[in-house]
Amino acid sequence: MPFSDSVLKKNSNWAKDVLESKEADYFKQFLDGQSPELLWIGHTNCGGIEASLDIDALDGPIKEWLSPINKLYLDNKDEMDKLSCRKEKLDNLCKLNIRRVVGIIDELDFINKARSNGDIIKIKGWIYDIGSGSLHDLGITTH
Ligand SMILES: [Zn+2]
Repeated sequence: MPFSDSVLKKNSNWAKDVLESKEADYFKQFLDGQSPELLWIGHTNCGGIEASLDIDALDGPIKEWLSPINKLYLDNKDEMDKLSCRKEKLDNLCKLNIRRVVGIIDELDFINKARSNGDIIKIKGWIYDIGSGSLHDLGITTH
């Protein structure tokens, strides 16, 4: 069994034990007062971002999947054209795409439903720099 499956199985068994125990309201108590923050983490050196620039060379589901990123590039072409280095352009497009996805998550029905029930949910956008191995907060936070 892969390590991740083992961890998930143990976690599932633990949750089942808690729910069947005298602490059946454990999760409800745990949730009260929580303000979840959701992280969307993109990464530099993304093959998907790079492939989106040559969208006409693609077809099928991958073309459909990457088309919004190509549109994002075209919508920001003036800004992108000011960057002389291809890596800078790709990394900038990664950041723009993280911002785009954070906006999508922010508008999801279950997020809005939770907010209408009084939950405070913040969606944050970060980027993982594959070259340096470091995470960077892009300063994108919705609430
Ligand atoms: Zn990627």
